[in-house]
Amino acid sequence: MGIVTPTPLTTVTDRDLEVLAEQLGRVPRGVVGIAARCVCGRPLVVRTAPRLDDGTPFPTTYYLTCPPAVAAVSTLEASGLMNDLTARLADEPDLADAYQRAHEAYLADREELGHVEEIAGISAGGMPTRVKCLHVLSGHALAAGPGVNPIGDEVLTLIADTWRQDRCTC
Ligand SMILES: [Zn+2]
Repeated sequence: MGIVTPTPLTTVTDRDLEVLAEQLGRVPRGVVGIAARCVCGRPLVVRTAPRLDDGTPFPTTYYLTCPPAVAAVSTLEASGLMNDLTARLADEPDLADAYQRAHEAYLADREELGHVEEIAGISAGGMPTRVKCLHVLSGHALAAGPGVNPIGDEVLTLIADTWRQDRCTC
């Protein structure tokens, strides 16, 4: 008997793929890892290849899949928060700088998975100068941990009453 190595949390299992199909209502495409999990172990954010099998460039490296989290973020988006946040980037240089670094971190993570010329330098969610998709930004925050994506971190704080990573609502 050798030492049993536990399956890394980021590894995609067949069970994960089943859960993802349930969460998304379709066969998940281009999944290369699980970037964040709920406390129950189900996938929360998937890491996706920058080019899908059919050749399509796919800029959204971190994709939020957990339905209650997606719903909580959708509710926030419906309030029109993206315009307010975009305006704040113009007024708050520290926030703008941190958001620029988040953009660069996102691109660096994606580059690890391969270089795709069509989307080179283009991240996701509106980064680095606009706030367009709170699902993308909160997905990045969950994947990267606190302190990397300031807008994503703020979104997670704003939805904490309805959804939190440490309290399963799957
Ligand atoms: Zn759960």
